[in-house]
Amino acid sequence: MSRIAYVNGRYLPHAQAHVHVEDRGFQFADGVYEVCEIWNGHIVDMTRHLDRLGRSLTELQMDWPLERRAMETVLRETARRNRVKNGLVYLQVTRGQARRDFAFPKLPIPTTLVVTARSTSPSVAVKNSEDGIAVVTTPDIRWERVDIKTVSLLPQVLAKQKAVRAGAKEAWMYDKEGYVTEGASSNAWIVAQDGTLITRPAEKGILRGITRAAIMDYAATNGIKVEERHFTLEEAKAAREAFITSATMLATAVVKIDDAVIGNGQPGSIVSAMRARFHEGVEKLPLSVY
Ligand code: PMP
Repeated sequence: MSRIAYVNGRYLPHAQAHVHVEDRGFQFADGVYEVCEIWNGHIVDMTRHLDRLGRSLTELQMDWPLERRAMETVLRETARRNRVKNGLVYLQVTRGQARRDFAFPKLPIPTTLVVTARSTSPSVAVKNSEDGIAVVTTPDIRWERVDIKTVSLLPQVLAKQKAVRAGAKEAWMYDKEGYVTEGASSNAWIVAQDGTLITRPAEKGILRGITRAAIMDYAATNGIKVEERHFTLEEAKAAREAFITSATMLATAVVKIDDAVIGNGQPGSIVSAMRARFHEGVEKLPLSVY
């Protein structure tokens, strides 16, 4: 089955799905994106993802490409046309196509909207959850507005490549004071000896992850304490458990940070329970509403 992408109003086979060479996403990374998990034929936390998209667009003074309801339909329809039952749907909005010039186009132009969807491998997910993952560490060299979910991701590309080269699955970035900021494409968490979850406050130094918010809900429902505070790499390496959260990895145990083994080197009981029960509390909207 050929994969289908939505591009500016049309559903097209990937081979024909193009944006213009002078699209500002391509020229300047002048765009924003979202990734939602598809779980068992449902889109997970679409409301929160579209709320965050709205915030990213506002921060960059960009317009919604479609009305929000139409956008929801396109997300569902793209997932449906690609027959995704478990996987992800990706959307990208750029400022649009205009003659190359750094400043915004003088006349209003339509924003570009691209949506793709794909299935993910259940066996990889099971392996990650059973074995946990290793992370490497790297300085956070990003700009100050990492709270905006832009497609300008080169520091994360380099960080992830460093991880892959070391045989790890993720890179944890740290700031100039040695505090962990977040993963290249995930939020970073540790578990204190008393079971408290610790994660960096979501001001401007990290992306306000949707899965991070879902874990906060889970913790509140289950009487688990959460502390939003900075933590160092040293503290992380000595933690009872460590984990990452993202729409594609959910909550996944970190069992090694650089050369330091976390706990007994196996996913701990707190993260394992969170992951097993993750979908109980989240918003799940069926792909088909017709
Ligand atoms: N931080 C960064 C830098 C990310 O790229 C992501 C995933 N897009 C996250 C955190 C996790 O966010 P979410 O839970 O919304 O996927």
